Amino acid sequence: MTQRKVRVRFAPSPTGALHIGGVRTALYNYLFARQNGGDMILRIEDTDSQRFVPGAEDYIIEALTWLGIKFDEGVSFGGNYGPYRQSERREIYKKYVDQLLNDGHAYIAFDTPAELEEKRKEIANFQYDASTRSQMRNSLTLSPEEVQSLIESGHQYVVRAKIEPNEDIHVNDLIRGEVVINSSILDDKVLYKSADQLPTYHLANIVDDHLMEVTHVIRGEEWLPSAPLHVLLYRFFGWEDTMPSFAHLSLLLKPEGNGKLSKRDGDRLGFPVFPLEWHDPKTGDVSSGYRESGYFPEAVVNFLALLGWNPGNDQEVMSMDDLIRLFDLSRCSKSGAKFDYEKGRWFNHHYLLEKSNTEIADLFLPIVESHGIQTTHAYVEKVVGMMKGRVNFVSELWDLCSFFFIAPTEYDEKTRKKRWKEDSAVQLGEFIEQLRAREPFDVEGTENECKAWIESKGYHLGNIMNAARLALVGEGKGPGIFDITEALGKEESIRRIQRAIEILK
Ligand code: GLU
Repeated sequence: MTQRKVRVRFAPSPTGALHIGGVRTALYNYLFARQNGGDMILRIEDTDSQRFVPGAEDYIIEALTWLGIKFDEGVSFGGNYGPYRQSERREIYKKYVDQLLNDGHAYIAFDTPAELEEKRKEIANFQYDASTRSQMRNSLTLSPEEVQSLIESGHQYVVRAKIEPNEDIHVNDLIRGEVVINSSILDDKVLYKSADQLPTYHLANIVDDHLMEVTHVIRGEEWLPSAPLHVLLYRFFGWEDTMPSFAHLSLLLKPEGNGKLSKRDGDRLGFPVFPLEWHDPKTGDVSSGYRESGYFPEAVVNFLALLGWNPGNDQEVMSMDDLIRLFDLSRCSKSGAKFDYEKGRWFNHHYLLEKSNTEIADLFLPIVESHGIQTTHAYVEKVVGMMKGRVNFVSELWDLCSFFFIAPTEYDEKTRKKRWKEDSAVQLGEFIEQLRAREPFDVEGTENECKAWIESKGYHLGNIMNAARLALVGEGKGPGIFDITEALGKEESIRRIQRAIEILK
């Protein structure tokens, strides 16, 4: 067989917000495509009109674009294999349904929902398969004339796959190795519904993977049970030679490790399970997103990449380019990955530190201004430079830094009791004179000179610094005193200390 160009697809159904596990699937597909110089396709699998949710498709595209997961082809990206929305491919599927019927790999079934319900009551664990299909109303039990007349008189029907029992079906999975499933446990899955004139997921998925020349199907573990049917369909169509390789990714688990990660875990523990904020059009509920929670896309990508895969050593920080180079499907784990959301915050902290003060100031300045403050970009940059090491998110900066923008008018009671001594007022009065005389008002020079002065006077260094902090900040937090005075400037520093002396003496 000649080497085919690698082509992968991300094939979500637009049934709501894209779950973070789906984002990981898209990411792994992207890494694999890029690493192999292949194509990445976005196919929208919207054949189930019952579950269609407006806005979901745009959401998926916006989320993946935000994360830097790029498509070469597909819905909204164009390409030579379109249309890429399955609801627009009705005509294409018809031919393949007919082929299966003509070749005896599928049959028409007329059983109504009520009749099926009846059977389920009658037979414990009823499944429509080789052992029961002879008792049902289908083209295997009815005469061709009866079938024809039922169709002509407008009876709805489905087309089912005819699965022969007692055969081992081999699914070669790049992560799990060879998975063998006996066909007797499979049911005769519905492949087409006359009511919507659309195929179901199984048929559309296989036909499209074939027509779009997909070489690797990388998807969530929840699709592994469908894989034997998919292998059979490739055989029914005579497409074994170009059957894609499968890779079923393990589940994302709850942080505690017991069971599948759900939205409720996010609500319970306070982390998003969606890439972007999602406004549910039906319920009006709003669910938080990584973007709106202040995560950087690089942090989310790095964090997700390591949920179920590792590079074989303890390297953790990896850019998209690193990941493209290092990703390896065979190193994806077979067992589920615990959703360690604390690690996600740690990654955000890491990427926040990697950004320049200018970039962080771009993000923080609007927050500062939203508190009614007028300031300069340069000043915000300086503040950010001092404080960014202490936060995971830009949004956390305001609580830590507001004193740089608003002078304290009240003083934390506890700190005052502990830090404001009897002689603090007098000593800070003298300290002000030191500051006033100091030129230039830099960090290091001012610090050295003031400390020398404190020593020469025999004062207690800690006492003066603590009282000065209370005066400048209003409480016991913040960076070094001389970093603060330098940022605030001489005039403002003196004003704040004077005011504290007035109020606290
Ligand atoms: N439409 C399926 C989904 O929503 C695609 C499964 C597959 O990738 O084959 O995940």
